[in-house]
Amino acid sequence: MGYAYDDQNIFAKILRGEIPNKTIAETEHTLAFADIYPQAPVHILVIPKGAYVCFDHFAAEASDAEIVDFHRVAARICADLNLAPGGDGDGYRTLSNAGAHAVQDVPHYHMHILGGRPLGPMLTRREGA
Ligand code: 5GP
Repeated sequence: MGYAYDDQNIFAKILRGEIPNKTIAETEHTLAFADIYPQAPVHILVIPKGAYVCFDHFAAEASDAEIVDFHRVAARICADLNLAPGGDGDGYRTLSNAGAHAVQDVPHYHMHILGGRPLGPMLTRREGA
């Protein structure tokens, strides 16, 4: 049990500078960059620089400084791109896929920030939920 981090995943390569990215924000602990296949006019990925596989791994094992920095970067992006409702923006969605049922493609924790158009329902409803 537990998490084994694969340091050959695409985001690890981005963090090492082996693959280019369109950087939106960068701090000591966090990198944010444009998703290569955007699913909305705004589609940004926020990732910790540390080796965490998914949300629960990050939230359980990262330092307080990493966790705070990650969320502050995400919040600043929402404000700077005028998405935040508190700044009169039209809103946005954050989401994070973990594991097989959520179809997580890249096994390095990332938060998607989506916005710039009405995003529709969270999930497609299905009989039996
Ligand atoms: P997941 O399915 O793991 O939640 O999302 C992975 C995301 O990473 C997808 O939205 C996909 O478009 C994005 N992605 C995959 N490869 C690359 C890449 O090389 N560069 C960037 N910027 N995004 C990528």
